[in-house]
Amino acid sequence: MIKTARAAVYDAPNEPFVIREFPVRDVKDDEVLVKVTMSTICRSDIHSYKGHRPNPCPGILGHEIIGIIEQLGSSITLDLRGDTLQCGDRITWTEFFHSGESYYTDVHDMPQKAEGVRKYGHDLADEDPHFLGGFAEYCYIQPGTGILKLPDGISDEEATPLNCGVATMISVIEASKVSAGDTVVIQGLGLLGLYGCAIARFRGAKHVIGLDAVPDRLVMARKFGADHTIDISGLTAEQQIAAVREICSPDGADVAIEVCGVAAAVPIGIKMLRVGGRYTIAGLVNPNANMTLDGNELLRRWITLRGIHNYHPRHLVEALDFVMASRDQFPFGEIVDSKFSLEQLNEAFQRAGDNSVLRAAIVP
Ligand SMILES: [Zn+2]
Repeated sequence: MIKTARAAVYDAPNEPFVIREFPVRDVKDDEVLVKVTMSTICRSDIHSYKGHRPNPCPGILGHEIIGIIEQLGSSITLDLRGDTLQCGDRITWTEFFHSGESYYTDVHDMPQKAEGVRKYGHDLADEDPHFLGGFAEYCYIQPGTGILKLPDGISDEEATPLNCGVATMISVIEASKVSAGDTVVIQGLGLLGLYGCAIARFRGAKHVIGLDAVPDRLVMARKFGADHTIDISGLTAEQQIAAVREICSPDGADVAIEVCGVAAAVPIGIKMLRVGGRYTIAGLVNPNANMTLDGNELLRRWITLRGIHNYHPRHLVEALDFVMASRDQFPFGEIVDSKFSLEQLNEAFQRAGDNSVLRAAIVP
């Protein structure tokens, strides 16, 4: 057993990442030690790094992670699907973990909202077990994590975003009750939006309408199942609404989903819906995302409005099944469009932050 391994650590928001070594110990009975093969930079890693939301420092970021089991605690035998786990298995796992009793888990079946739930990439690097984030050589999977074996057929690039972007959008599309024949509007065509387009298409949506102001993203959305894309740069709210409603016959869209992170998009998206339409907020992850809504409009037009954050472990299982079933239809591997070493993490964050790459992968 090696004694130490490397991690890219930041000491305070916006401080450069530095490579540090931490001890690697044997696993406890209820832990799994994974050798990280790939992790990707999520938009929320950038929010944490820039200090938009509190995160313990010095820290190791990264929660979209896959790897190979190096040591398996004696009490961990099966994955979420009931398949036997062994050393050498390639796995993904839920981005959050919680064990013990919980009102939200036990009563409401919302383990992702259990009090005291913790997430990978959100812990102090200085404390045992040190390795709880993706931008490192190892990660200790903690009790209460949903683990899922990866089939040989799925590439690292396809598999790494499963436990954040894909599973989250499976959760969002399920909550939005997207079904065959629906017209679905996706506001924002970053990673979540692209997966949203693909999942809605896979579920049999009649039209998938993608909105963004970045031309490259509109091109990508077409590859991921959008049959209409609208460049909203230079369009007023009224023009955006008119452009969408022109496609929807006889009235507005059945479903609209916010994944652009802009609060002002929500009232615009609601006006794109038909009577009885469903609106889901999934991208407003930072506090103070205030907006003005006309409650009378929600009432008169029977609008369902809901927020969705994170996902249930079952959504990770469905995320993998969705990608395996549709990987010939959608170029998931193209989403991870750049690779960096652990030493290049600063450059990777810069590129991910200025949107010059879609999803930056770290291969430690
Ligand atoms: Zn994420």
